[in-house]
Amino acid sequence: MLSKRVQGFTESVIREMTRVVSQHGGVNLAQGMPNFRPPDALIDAAHRALDGDFHQYAITWGAPRLRRAIVDKYRKFYGIALDPDQHVTVCCGSTETMLSTLLAVLNPGDEVIIFEPFYENYGPGCIIAGAEPVWVPLEGPDFTFDPERLERAVSPRTRAIVFNTPNNPSGKVFSRAELELIADLCRRHDLLAITDEIYEHIVYDGLGHTAIATLPGMAERTVTISGISKSYSVTGWRIGWAIAPPELSTGIRRAHDFVTVGAPHPLQEAAVTALTLPDSYYVWLREMYQAKRDLLLGALERAGFVTYRPSGAYYILTDVAHFMERHRIADDTEFAMFLIKEIGVATVPGSSFYAHRDLGTTKIRFCFPKTDDVLREAGERLLKLAR
Ligand code: GLN
Repeated sequence: MLSKRVQGFTESVIREMTRVVSQHGGVNLAQGMPNFRPPDALIDAAHRALDGDFHQYAITWGAPRLRRAIVDKYRKFYGIALDPDQHVTVCCGSTETMLSTLLAVLNPGDEVIIFEPFYENYGPGCIIAGAEPVWVPLEGPDFTFDPERLERAVSPRTRAIVFNTPNNPSGKVFSRAELELIADLCRRHDLLAITDEIYEHIVYDGLGHTAIATLPGMAERTVTISGISKSYSVTGWRIGWAIAPPELSTGIRRAHDFVTVGAPHPLQEAAVTALTLPDSYYVWLREMYQAKRDLLLGALERAGFVTYRPSGAYYILTDVAHFMERHRIADDTEFAMFLIKEIGVATVPGSSFYAHRDLGTTKIRFCFPKTDDVLREAGERLLKLAR
């Protein structure tokens, strides 16, 4: 009954964990979404938009005011000069943006390099587009890649490299040197860089965000994907965008038009308010998340987890091999179930972020966009593991 395309897809483990914890009760540190309200200014803007005249389709590739606000923001933060009519396509969240991008640039038989661990959507996105993912591991405590291995992954069929910085699930922020290696590879082999920068404003310890599109020769071969979900705590609004050179934007718009027609018009209008929040908002956001990172890191370490300290995004990946041995648990999925049922904390099993699933079988991902009381409660519960 089912197409070959979807036969290999399983239910998103991230969303499955959210479902399971709602049946068992417990603290949900699985699906990465805030349990707190977005800024009041955004909610007010959404009310105003609903009272206004934005009930019909916006222009397929995005309401003009929103595209202009996106252009202004990229100029201000990254010094990138864009034309809202040529370079910007607004989609339903960065997930649809990524899919429409892959549909726009890939042909059946093309290969796409993806680093693992990865965010779970990229592989299925390539497969929907008929292309084949080729995996390159991010290794060691810094989740770094071996440039020679990356080079060897390139074949005559390679069309693009997809990556995510700051990275979900590892918290890695690609260094400028690493981005330069990737840019060099793209230029030499004529590849596209497709970058998911949805966590661009969530970086810690004084780090900044570098968009690979700002490196020499990269603007013409990069699709930069981002959105409002994570920066403004509105994952349910489903507003994302692609920044791409005009020719690629045309393709992305064509795919997007037939996939969803357009993102919710009133929320596109309200998103303008998000993008024009003052600089102090971003300082607050970083400090708020850095404090939550430290709170959860401390709790996980007290409970005995081996943690990878994130430099960005809002997840902590941990290694649980010693717990698995002690509790005679065979793999990460069983361990995540044990955490839900015995400890009352939902997480995501590490193997959902790896194509070579064995690389993730001793890992567990926690997310921390939660109020401090929830993070403390999770910490209390997890202490049971230390006893
Ligand atoms: N990006 C979020 C996460 O990784 C939500 C993803 C989702 O619902 N698939 O948890």
